[in-house]
Amino acid sequence: MKEEYFEYIPCPVCNGEQLEGFFKIAYGKLKQKRSLDYSCLGINKDTLLETRRCKECKFVFVNPRVRSKYAHLIYNQSKEGKYAGNKRYTIDTAENRDMTRQRKLAYFSIFPKMLNYVNLSDSLRLLDVGCGFGHVLSLAGELGIEGIGVDIDEFRLEYCRGLGLKVFSPSEFKADYEGESFDLIVCQSVIEHVIDLNEFLSFIDSISKENTILYLNGISPHLISKESKKGRFVKAHFVEHINYFYDSTLDLFMGQAGFAPASHEIIILNSRKIRIPLKLARVIRPKTGFFEKIYIKESCIGEIAKRLRGSKVVEYIIS
Ligand SMILES: [Zn+2]
Repeated sequence: MKEEYFEYIPCPVCNGEQLEGFFKIAYGKLKQKRSLDYSCLGINKDTLLETRRCKECKFVFVNPRVRSKYAHLIYNQSKEGKYAGNKRYTIDTAENRDMTRQRKLAYFSIFPKMLNYVNLSDSLRLLDVGCGFGHVLSLAGELGIEGIGVDIDEFRLEYCRGLGLKVFSPSEFKADYEGESFDLIVCQSVIEHVIDLNEFLSFIDSISKENTILYLNGISPHLISKESKKGRFVKAHFVEHINYFYDSTLDLFMGQAGFAPASHEIIILNSRKIRIPLKLARVIRPKTGFFEKIYIKESCIGEIAKRLRGSKVVEYIIS
């Protein structure tokens, strides 16, 4: 592992320096995706990728990890061959319509989960952090929500612009939206990728206000044991997926930006919207390795926060 590209860091959640080995594996044992080439980072099949756990807050993270300034090597250069000429990513081909339909259906459930916590008569602005191919932004538009997206992947940004969506690279966003805040923030399958978590948290803090609703999903350390048992590493892929949060670690982390989980009860959002206690849900839904949470910013207490205090609810889909 080349020191030029990788560095060893203290716990980015609590700054703890007491870290214990959690799991390590050679890159060659992970699922090899033909479209990805990490040789630009000096990674080959024998490169050992290590995760450690903070003794203080239990955060599990890849360490040493890529230095922030080389993120573009992972998210742009290594993927150069991934999209070019692929009809799935060519707007309005049959393959593209099939992909879009499936993804939009999968992401649609985010909206009832978030909108449960806002006044629907207010005009709403949503920021999709890591907006990908713009599925959430397109759906937001259909629902009369102004959607703005940020992504670091240049191909995806161009794709979104082709759909007429308002999207920006992080530096463009900073220049145009400095000091603005959003009612809804979506961070879908993003946090596991974030190299500099402190920068990420201050960004989320800077674009949120009292009562901002945050949708966050990602992967937990259970995923590593799950895939380890199967002997097949697909999502526990330690070049891109470098952060593994337990529920309590994530609450501690988001709490630093004034976000509290809206989560004492659970709704199984199937056709009948059945409510069950969280404890029972954990029994019927064993640890999957994935989490999905709704947070509300509570830096001061407003009407919505007061209402939520009375009935804290988080929603999950169990299929
Ligand atoms: Zn820690």
